[in-house]
Amino acid sequence: MQDLDRLIREATAQFAAVADPAKLEQVKAAYLGKGGVLTALLKGLGSLPVEERRTAGASINRAKEAIESALEGRRAALREAAVDLRLREETLDVTLPGRGLRLGGVHPATRTLDRIEALFGSIGFEVADGPEIETDFHNFSALNTPENHPARSMHDTFYIEGAPGLLLRTHTSPIQVRYMLGHVDRHADTDPMPPIKVIAPGRVYRVDSDATHSPMFHQVEGLWVDENASFADLKGLLTDFLRRFFEKDDLRVRFRPSFFPFTEPSAEVDMGCVFCDGVGCRVCSHSGWLEIAGCGMVHPNVFRAVGIDCERYLGFAFGIGPDRLTMLRYGINDLRLFYDGDLRFLEQFR
Ligand SMILES: [Zn+2]
Repeated sequence: MQDLDRLIREATAQFAAVADPAKLEQVKAAYLGKGGVLTALLKGLGSLPVEERRTAGASINRAKEAIESALEGRRAALREAAVDLRLREETLDVTLPGRGLRLGGVHPATRTLDRIEALFGSIGFEVADGPEIETDFHNFSALNTPENHPARSMHDTFYIEGAPGLLLRTHTSPIQVRYMLGHVDRHADTDPMPPIKVIAPGRVYRVDSDATHSPMFHQVEGLWVDENASFADLKGLLTDFLRRFFEKDDLRVRFRPSFFPFTEPSAEVDMGCVFCDGVGCRVCSHSGWLEIAGCGMVHPNVFRAVGIDCERYLGFAFGIGPDRLTMLRYGINDLRLFYDGDLRFLEQFR
């Protein structure tokens, strides 16, 4: 009996010393397993005198039950401890203050595009969109840019390998081509065709990269087609736009003769330098003027390519560099800042 009590205490102490469930089962085997102490004691009953067997057997069974119950108790304790540990590790302190979501801001390039769309929208211009991967026809041929034109060279244009006739659009004029083609279709039965007033903002691509050029940049082109659209209207429209964009009523604007394949006559547009008020500074190369847009009267070949009667209709088109407008408006001197993703730069526009 003494031995059995000691055995129970010893087994209970050994179970308590184990913290790992797998290890606990190993310790159990030493007492309750096939080769365990209690099994051996029960087997030994046969060698006892008959009158002692009953009491000894009962004592051994009680000891066995006590050890089994100690084992079960330890198993439960270990299970509970594991659950506790998991709860502690995965705990969520709901009383801690939240980290909060930081508010982002609109990118300066997007701000300018929004502003341009709002200003032209206020005078009845629609905003059109188109694919950035364009066909040779929409990007060049329809815009009076024949196959031997230098603008088509591999040097300036990103062509798409294995897809002849496809390229990354070099300007947003193909949007206007698509818009005019759709417009002609929509109003095939209308006479006269209602005026077209549309701007085409978007990303364009050219092989070019330095402080003021990026291989991807933005462009906004505009188009106005009507029976009596004139160069004077074009001049008034662009002057008014620039004055409103820069919030400067006396901003000077001048037009210089130039050449584009898709307009005739064509002009470059300069505006008085907003940094030195025309006196001359580093930004304007001491000329007092900044180049800001290109424009002209739509070439009859462009109208022919999209099926608009060039005897009846006139039109003018212009292209503005919104990235340049952004740089001038916010005084930014390196275009690459727009695309570096540097928060110190971007956070200034929140
Ligand atoms: Zn200047």
